[in-house]
Amino acid sequence: MRAVSVHSDAIVVTSLFWQCNAIALRAGGEAMLIDSPYFPDELELLPSVLAQSGFEPNALLATHGDFDHLLGRMAFPGLALGVAESTMRRIRARPGEAQRELRDYDAEAYVERSKPLSLGEVQALPVPGQLELGDQELALLTAEGHTPDGMAIWAPWLGVLCTGDYLCPVEIPWIDAGGSIDDYRNTLARLAPVVEQAETVVPGHGAPQSRAAALRQIDEDSDYLDALERGDERPALPKGRDTKRQREIHAANLRQVG
Ligand SMILES: [Zn+2]
Repeated sequence: MRAVSVHSDAIVVTSLFWQCNAIALRAGGEAMLIDSPYFPDELELLPSVLAQSGFEPNALLATHGDFDHLLGRMAFPGLALGVAESTMRRIRARPGEAQRELRDYDAEAYVERSKPLSLGEVQALPVPGQLELGDQELALLTAEGHTPDGMAIWAPWLGVLCTGDYLCPVEIPWIDAGGSIDDYRNTLARLAPVVEQAETVVPGHGAPQSRAAALRQIDEDSDYLDALERGDERPALPKGRDTKRQREIHAANLRQVG
């Protein structure tokens, strides 16, 4: 796990598993943690890693309902978890899904946990909408297409945009169950003008990106979605993302949209 400050009031903690990012933001004496690392030791260390930099979260957010983004409460068991209304609908429609997936991935990687995942108190947030953090306001933006649910989180006073599983430099656009190419395109179109104003774009997986890099990726990902829509079996994948694993995701995308 590594921690990188992207602003004096924003820190990104990156897990060794899938480069999952947890992002802490602060304003006016309050702090919020978005998403989570994965391994039990990372979750155990997270509160002290954040505290060393002066971040003590009062609240948790998850960008979407995939299990690898929902583990914040394992580090901060006393805090409620805020999610988009769309994510709340997904959790209600498929109860226990995140717990089952976590168990399966843990079993594959031989990860043992002292406790199963419990989501605890989950609060549905209107998206698009605003959310107070101390003396500032976060903007919650609809981000769907990867899955049927989710939000991106924009902290304008920090210039930090947290995109969830969009604009990940380590992953091609992934159309998972309930996602769609059209929704994905709409999300990229919605994020583009915000990226234009951002200093740093923090994806759900992989290193934080500059505005220029994130804008380049919007173009690359749009081109990929075009190829996916055409049903190309072997499209050119973007530089740095042309790997066996990304080819597997492409094959799964073809099955999903086909
Ligand atoms: Zn993810």
